Amino acid sequence: MSSSPQILSDAIRNVPDFPKPGIQFKDITPILSNPVLFQNAIDALIKPHQPGEIEQVAGIDARGFIFASAAALRLNAGFVPIRKKGKLPYNTHEESYDLEYGSNTVEVHTDAFSPGAKVLLVDDLLATGGTALAALKLLKRLKAQVVEAVFLVELTFLNAREKISHIPTRTIISY
Ligand code: AMP
Repeated sequence: MSSSPQILSDAIRNVPDFPKPGIQFKDITPILSNPVLFQNAIDALIKPHQPGEIEQVAGIDARGFIFASAAALRLNAGFVPIRKKGKLPYNTHEESYDLEYGSNTVEVHTDAFSPGAKVLLVDDLLATGGTALAALKLLKRLKAQVVEAVFLVELTFLNAREKISHIPTRTIISY
């Protein structure tokens, strides 16, 4: 099955002014609901990696979980959730980052990774890169070895790559 970024891009629905005025929300649910497109998206996300190479796929709350868990199964890897604050039940490390207004905090379980574990970080979309950078800081604290950070969509005009230039980063669809 071929993975054409154009077919995936055509399926993404742009929703203006959601969740607030001025935001062009990239709705990936039409990809998820179509079995061919969903598989194409997972194919594209895992493409350079062989099963056995990655030990764990870390997914970012919440849409990142969908892609990361499917990718983990295809790579014979485990799945680790990086969650918004207050959702994980056990001991956590946390990282906060600034938003346009206010801030967000993400957490990971303190025993989620063994030191040196080869990890693929996955999220649906890279916008300013604040979320991804916070997730990468959590992975660093646990001494995970981040093989790559991969995103289905990148909003290139927000220059997230400058924030995460220390990590190999790949995106499938760019706007
Ligand atoms: P950022 O930290 O700015 O890179 O934002 C990335 C996170 O926010 C991802 O987890 C995305 O799911 C979500 N996000 C940010 N902007 C958008 C957008 N325009 N459309 C859909 N999701 C977005």
